[in-house]
Amino acid sequence: MAEGTIINIQKYSVHDGPGIRTTTFFKGCPLNCWWCHNPETHLKRHEIMFFEDRCTGCGRCVKNCSNGAIEIIESKAVVDDEKCTLCGRCSEVCINEGRELVGRDITVNELMKELIKDQMFYEQSNGGVTFSGGEPMLYVEFLSEVLERCKRNGLHTAIETSGYVKWEEFEKVIKNVDLFLYDIKLMNNEKHKKYIGADNQLILDNLAKLCEENSNIIIRMPIIAGINDDFEHVNSVIDYISNLNIIEVNLLPYHKMGMDKYKRVNKIYKLTGTEVPTEEKMNELAKKFKEAGIKVKIGG
Ligand code: SF4
Ligand code: SF4
Repeated sequence: MAEGTIINIQKYSVHDGPGIRTTTFFKGCPLNCWWCHNPETHLKRHEIMFFEDRCTGCGRCVKNCSNGAIEIIESKAVVDDEKCTLCGRCSEVCINEGRELVGRDITVNELMKELIKDQMFYEQSNGGVTFSGGEPMLYVEFLSEVLERCKRNGLHTAIETSGYVKWEEFEKVIKNVDLFLYDIKLMNNEKHKKYIGADNQLILDNLAKLCEENSNIIIRMPIIAGINDDFEHVNSVIDYISNLNIIEVNLLPYHKMGMDKYKRVNKIYKLTGTEVPTEEKMNELAKKFKEAGIKVKIGG
């Protein structure tokens, strides 16, 4: 049976589709958006997050690492990645929660058991389950089994996706997905390549095909100052989706909440000087969609 690698199962979620939901966050993403607030989901494999501020240099992790991968330098644990096998032993013994193993392999049965637990809340709130990430579609075999089981149990299903996977992958899940939360980040392809690390044609083509298949789609647009908060971008999104059957557009203002996590997974955050968009700016952009007759909401 297929397995998935997840980072978290979030209960009572209210921003990932209608009603009260349980959201499963998968690990691994084919894209690399500069503003991503979940850098611990980028790699598909397990990894260790290091919280330098919590580390007292006690050395418990050093003693318990059978691979000799850790040494204490200037009162902080420093890991040799070449020697580390990601066994997670150091995170188990650290009483200060200085090291955390990110990534958990899960079977379909194990995940279903978690999802079903809150069925009563979904029913009372018209909610359901959402699969997010990272990119859940990277686990399409696993996901299609889970989705099928969800539908058999009468759960409303949503997938939050970047759309950057082969169309054939969508074909495997489409009949069991009640709602797609589909990202459009940049229409300008050169900017898309620069800030996201890939071409946007596949994403736009998949969106059009999902619409042809009569899927329910909410478009999600992160708004980042100086990158995609201009009318040119918004107008080109409006042009593209005007003829598509879209439920609504969600404008998601950039925030800095994931910034500190970059250092913890040994990555560099590139948007340090970027400001959060003002309410006025968000309202201006939302107005454009309203004028075009497209339902729009600020936030998820
Ligand atoms: S990571 Fe934890 S166990 Fe290791 S030295 Fe720091 S505080 Fe001690
Ligand atoms: S994850 Fe395992 S191998 Fe890697 S540093 Fe920690 S104890 Fe050592």
